[in-house]
Amino acid sequence: MITLQRTDMRSLPYFCRGQVVRGFGRGSKELGIPTANFPESVVDSLPADINTGIYYGWARVDNGDIHKMVMSIGWNPYYKNTKKSMETHVIHTFKEDFYGQILSVAMAGYIRPERGFKSLDELIAAIHSDIEEAKRNLDLPEHLKLKEDNFFKTSVSTTTRSDKIMNGH
Ligand code: ADP
Ligand code: MG
Repeated sequence: MITLQRTDMRSLPYFCRGQVVRGFGRGSKELGIPTANFPESVVDSLPADINTGIYYGWARVDNGDIHKMVMSIGWNPYYKNTKKSMETHVIHTFKEDFYGQILSVAMAGYIRPERGFKSLDELIAAIHSDIEEAKRNLDLPEHLKLKEDNFFKTSVSTTTRSDKIMNGH
């Protein structure tokens, strides 16, 4: 498998937003790690240098607070692995689900490629280690400043059902 080096991902930081859709019901929530799925339109607009794997960055639901996040970009089994999926775990405890709301994300950096796991425990441990790495990296000044980006100052409205892609704003 060919994996890109972090430095090759010229599209980072990458900003996008879209309406949260239902995923494949793989039970991420039961593992304590719910992942909010982006619609196909957002996934299809990803630049070619954004490889599959695990990313970290910032996320905001509608006009709420900005939280740290980890995102998995992987091959979507529903489309026989010909299409990618983007699943964001927001590092925050929400009172309620936010299906249908607008998720805005700034992808700041890359953690690792996708990989297989021998057991569920091993998978959960890897995700927890990804979350710790995301938290640490996002405290670096170059990543902290993304929180202040104009991208997050735009007020989004669910009534517009906007899933317009925004990068470079
Ligand atoms: P699905 O297969 O529909 O994506 P999940 O078990 O992955 O189901 O749960 C994802 C949903 O959980 C999200 O769409 C969102 O509405 C909700 N949710 C609650 N808390 C979070 C969180 N911290 N990060 C991501 N999604 C969350
Ligand atoms: Mg999910």
